[in-house]
Amino acid sequence: MFPKPKLRLELRDVCHKSTSLFLKNFDSSKDFAELVETVLTRLYSIPDHKDVSTTGPIPAHTMIPGTRSVTLILRDMDGVAYTTGTDLDSDHKEIHLSLSYLNHVASQKPGYSARTEILGVVCHELVHCFQWNGNGTCNGGLIEGIADWVRLNAGYIPPHWKREAGKSWDSGYQNTGYFLDWIEKSRGIGSVYKINQALCNKEYKNDKFWDHLFGKDVGSLWKEYAESLKKSKEEESDSHGDPNLKMQIRIKKEVEGHD
Ligand SMILES: [Zn+2]
Repeated sequence: MFPKPKLRLELRDVCHKSTSLFLKNFDSSKDFAELVETVLTRLYSIPDHKDVSTTGPIPAHTMIPGTRSVTLILRDMDGVAYTTGTDLDSDHKEIHLSLSYLNHVASQKPGYSARTEILGVVCHELVHCFQWNGNGTCNGGLIEGIADWVRLNAGYIPPHWKREAGKSWDSGYQNTGYFLDWIEKSRGIGSVYKINQALCNKEYKNDKFWDHLFGKDVGSLWKEYAESLKKSKEEESDSHGDPNLKMQIRIKKEVEGHD
């Protein structure tokens, strides 16, 4: 059982048209607590020791931060959202969500709803309320990558997200999120759990951190990831070039009279 922090909602401008959009798409009594559960399950479920895909040592104890409350604040501001501790006590978190951003979200692409975007953004910010950060020393790209890895796994995937090896492993957000997803698949279920646990009350040192967990430095892991993406793209284009498949498509078109 995970801890159940106090959850609060603060509407700073009830007359703003995005406030009603938010309330229509976010059931605060249900969605908020469910998202907390989603985040804690993905960050803190202890990997199965007997699972063959789990590699390397698993910490003996799971450490979860003592976050006592999360206040979701809707207000008019620039940007999308951010998370902070309150001035008095960092165990009390505040998520600030931009009303003007929600206004822009209302005109989303077909097939992607405002509700999915709201759940996705709140999910990402909730990760910041519950993840470890190496006592503030962790690489910012990794912090953001873990948040988007959770969002990815929870299924709130925006249409512009792409699985690609961008500029560097730590350019953050979905770029690092997909990289972590690959680590989880190639190095075993529980890899992100172990990364997060290794950031608990310990300083983050880039040269030792990854080698200690996966026996390789992060540059080599990133290279391996980029190569695996290239390989799967090649395989994909090979299957598109399949003459058998092309023939089938041509026949289908002829039968349907499209050609
Ligand atoms: Zn973030």
